[in-house]
Parts: sequence; structure tokens; C-alpha cells
Amino acid sequence: MSERIFIGVAWPYANGPLHLGHIAGACLPPDIFARYHRLKGNEVLMVSGSDQHGTPITVRAEQEGRPPREIAARYHEGFLDSWRRLGISFDLFTTTDTPNHHELAREFFLTLKDKGYIYQDTMALLYCPTCNRFLPDRYVEGTCPYCRCEGVRGDQCDGCGKPLNTVDLIDPHCRLCSALPEIKESEHFFLRLSAFNRQLLDWVKGQSHWRPNALNFTINLLTEGLKDRAITRDIEWGIAVPVAGFENKRIYVWFEAVIGYLSASKEWARSLGDDERWRQFWQGDAKSYYFIGKDNIPFHTIIWPAMLMGYGGLNLPYDVPANEFLTLEGRPLSTSRNWAVWLPDYLERYDADPLRYFLSANMPESGDTDFSWREFVRRNNDELVATYGNLVHRVLTFTYRSFDGSVPEPGAFDEKSKKLLEKAEDVLSAVDRLLHECRFREAIRTAMSLAHEANRYLDDKAPWKRIKEDREGAATSLYVALSVICCLKTALYPFLPFSSRKLHHLLGFEGGVEDGGWSTAEMPPGQRLATPESLVTKLDERVADEETVRLGGAGC
Ligand SMILES: [Zn+2]
Ligand SMILES: [Zn+2]
Repeated sequence: MSERIFIGVAWPYANGPLHLGHIAGACLPPDIFARYHRLKGNEVLMVSGSDQHGTPITVRAEQEGRPPREIAARYHEGFLDSWRRLGISFDLFTTTDTPNHHELAREFFLTLKDKGYIYQDTMALLYCPTCNRFLPDRYVEGTCPYCRCEGVRGDQCDGCGKPLNTVDLIDPHCRLCSALPEIKESEHFFLRLSAFNRQLLDWVKGQSHWRPNALNFTINLLTEGLKDRAITRDIEWGIAVPVAGFENKRIYVWFEAVIGYLSASKEWARSLGDDERWRQFWQGDAKSYYFIGKDNIPFHTIIWPAMLMGYGGLNLPYDVPANEFLTLEGRPLSTSRNWAVWLPDYLERYDADPLRYFLSANMPESGDTDFSWREFVRRNNDELVATYGNLVHRVLTFTYRSFDGSVPEPGAFDEKSKKLLEKAEDVLSAVDRLLHECRFREAIRTAMSLAHEANRYLDDKAPWKRIKEDREGAATSLYVALSVICCLKTALYPFLPFSSRKLHHLLGFEGGVEDGGWSTAEMPPGQRLATPESLVTKLDERVADEETVRLGGAGC
């Protein structure tokens, strides 16, 4: 029976181009997962959008002297282009600045307010006497009161990941003018998180399938006890607070951005002319997965579930696969410090699949992992090209040369042939199980082990030598190798969609890879293959060394 899978992808702030950290953290894993489920014949809805509000956008806008809307629109266009070229297969990638999203965010706010989960109170806030303004979130920097990490921003600590209020910071200063802020009172609305503490803890304790990072972090925060959190800000850019007297304030970006998962689903349904279709992915036995970086854990395991509990009638997250961070040559990637490999730069020079391969095989699932150009080139040349590309190339070329470009008719299978075909079946079901559990790194390594095995089999059988005295034997080993390659095409499709699509065509199949489903397709004897061409390309090491200087170190 087919399943319904909702996939929410963390909303990137539209305040700069995407870098490899975004891709490894929250963008590539959900695409692998979505492609896998589509291959399995399941119904998938994968949505996200650019986060157009909040202080990351306004800080950038002030730095550039442009309106926030213009900044956000510019980077949103860039995101769309990057998704297309990297093959991130969203059903909808929208923005938080649509009328649909504004309307739903206001409705959500008012529903929670009517139910008593949002209340008004006076709070002490940091105010810059020099700039004459309140300093919300990223307008202030200081030291984390929990872990003593320095230079953290007012909304969340980069060191320990805890959500912060600006007044909690030790030694705060204005990020615009460095002045020492004063404390001033202001009226705001609060989300009554404390009301959900027990319910959240009971729920989270039942999520034993979550990764330890999300599970432990969340249980710790809930055990310490939740504090109510202000969800409005003294800022001009964002979604208006739908209450009289609050015209000069906006809804906190994190409160409304998570509602984006729902508003995007509604926008998607409307675009199909079936306004209620979103319900199939938000109610009943549909499962919802939220793919995020570890810094987003509390917003997806506490704040959004609490909002959903308060609102009622919608599914809570089934899983929240949170990745750790990718570092660049040992240092954390950072937009503000300009230490990053920017995705548009990468895509101008190289294909998508080598990057998808590297980031999958090196995915920061259980700890931080590192990107370096040298390692990227090595993995591409020594693993992807040498193992997989080479296997495909020699099998197809030989079939073309010696069997007239058609899948040969096999004779009886010997022990080694039977073993390899069994291994192909086993690998496909192991990869199936691993992908189902969001264990992407192990899944791609398992798939690649089959390519290794097939190479060893071919070296042993050497059909190119054997054909002179035993044409049937050579035909049989080629047939086995072709069937294994066909299986690899399926197992690697979620990771390497461009290569799999090419291979699908080279093997003589019509239509898309997803049409074939998740099964060990027997190669039909007699099927015509297309003229062999290189599946993946070897990269030049010297070029990559220069890229480090050009792409990574600029302005550092
Ligand atoms: Zn901290
Ligand atoms: Zn200031």
C-alpha cells in the first residue's frame, strides 16, 4: 500500500546565496528522501521557501542600503536557479512574503490567542540610545549566559544552540553602532510554551526513532522547563500583528516561518485546483518529516509542535532528521565571515552529481564533517569515477563492441554469478531499509559496495579475454554485470539523479527512472543499448586547488 510522506525543508533566509553548509545540512537529505519515496511509488509532498523576514534580512538590507523586499527577492531567484541545477526536486518552493502566507500566519496567531495560548505582557528589551531603536534578535551581540560563548546573537547561541532572549546576553552591544544598550519596556505577545511542557515531553519520549542529537537536546530543554517566549518584535519588516495598537510591531520571524510549511502546502493544493488536497499530507496517517540543520532543532521539536498542539487537527512531526555541520577545511562555514563555497560558484564550474556524491558519502549525520577541494576531487576520481563510472563504461563499451549493442542472452549461472545477483538483491533491500530510516551515508556506501563487488567479478571473469574461446560464458558474465548496473541505477538514483537518468537511457529504457520502481529489474535480453558515453567525469586536481583560493578564501 502506498504511503503519504510530507517533507518539510528548513527555510533558508534570503540574505545571501546558498553555500555547501545549507546543502549538506538541510537541502540534499530531503531530496534523497523524496526521490526514494517516489521510486517506491509513495505520494510525496516536499515544500519549502525562502524566509524573507526577520533581522537577517533587515541587517543585510541596511548594510547594502536597499529595501528588505528587494534583497529577499534577489536571493529567492538565486535559490530557484540553484535547486534546478542541483536537482533538488521541490513540489513547491515559495516565499514567506505571499498574501497566502501572511493570511495564514495571522489566522494561526489569532486562533492561538483565542485559545489562550498567546497572551500580552510587558517585557524588558534592549534599546540602543544612539540608534534610537529597540535591538531585536540579530541587532545585538554578546556572551551566552549558558555556555559563555562570545559574539553570539540575541536570538540563539551558536555555541550551545539554546534559544535566547536579547536581555539574557552578558555584555551586550548594538551591532550597528557598538553602543551599550539600555533596557526599556515594551508591550509584546507571548507564546505560552509552559502550557505544553508536559504534553511535549510525553510526546518526545515516544520518538525513539529520532536521531540522538534531536532527541537528547529536546528532552534536556523540556526537563529544564520551558519559558514562554515573545513572538512579536519592534521592527518594521515582516508580518503585521493582527491586533489594534500593535501597528508598529511584527510577528517574530520564527513563529511565522514554521507556519510556512502549512501555507506552502495550501498554496501547492490551490495551484493544482484542488484547495483541500493539502489535508492528505497533514491529517490521518500521512507521515511528516522535517529536514533541518542542528541549529534549528528547538524550533522544530518544541516551538512548532507546541503551535500545532495548540492549533489542533494537524499531524505532529513524525521525524526531524537534523544534520550536524559541514566545515570547510576545518573551519565552520559562515556567510557573514565569507568563509564558504557558494553553490552558484560551484555549479558554474562542475556538475551536480559529484557534489551530491561527496556530500552524501560524507554527510554530517552523527557529527560534523569536513569539505576540502582535495578530498572532493579524490572522492570523485577514486570512488565515483574509478568504481562506478568505470564499471559502467567497460561493461557498456564491451557489450557494444562484441554483442552488437544488445543485452546478450545469458547461459547457465555459475556460483559466482548467482552470488553477485543475490548480493544485488540484498544491497537493494538494505539501501531501501537505510533510506527509510534516513541513514543516507550508510545507504550510499552500501550501494557503492555493490559496484566494488561487480568490478571484482568482472576482473575475475574477464569476458574480453574469455570471448575468444567461450562466447556464451562471456555473454553470461556481461548479462550479470548489466543487471547489477541496472540495480545500481535504481539504488543510486536518489543520490545521483542526473547520472541515473543518463544510465537509464544508456541501458535502453524509455521514460524516467522513477517509472521503473524500486526493484531489481532483469535486463531483457536483446534490449538495444544506447551508444556508450562517460557517465561521470574525472576532475582535474590542479583546478580544484586553485578553487580553494578563489571560492573559499575570498575576503577572508
Ligand atoms: Zn550558549
Ligand atoms: Zn546602536
